[in-house]
Amino acid sequence: MNHFGSCLCGSIRYEVDGELSDFGYCHCRSCQKASGSAHGANAGVDRSSLRVLDPEGTLLEYESSPGKIRAFCGKCGSPLFAWLTGTPELVRIRLGSLDSEFTKTAKAHTFVSESAAWETIDDNLPQFDTWADRNVLEQTGSRQP
Ligand SMILES: [Zn+2]
Ligand SMILES: [Zn+2]
Repeated sequence: MNHFGSCLCGSIRYEVDGELSDFGYCHCRSCQKASGSAHGANAGVDRSSLRVLDPEGTLLEYESSPGKIRAFCGKCGSPLFAWLTGTPELVRIRLGSLDSEFTKTAKAHTFVSESAAWETIDDNLPQFDTWADRNVLEQTGSRQP
């Protein structure tokens, strides 16, 4: 096992055998709503390497836009991972749910055009109005063109 994580209440745990992809900070409105904060931070992994332990059956799914499924704990509300119905073999892990050490750092800011007025971005990472260029950041399992 390379990584493991859980929701806030601990009802749902997961294990990841594969390596997590590179990631960025997504400032789009959906990530603001889904995270309850200024941006999302999600890394892709093959679904075949993800094992979800949900003994109480509290994992719920929500289709936030056509073909985009967000999985979260129905007891505590923690977002855990998401995927596209068009590429169900890839899931995107919400990095805040990780309990294992993860040492990669963000490669870019995406959808900065939608960022909250109350957020300050003051690092030197490249910023993109919408999706990142693929040569800067490949957002595995997302709708990145
Ligand atoms: Zn929970
Ligand atoms: Zn987003």
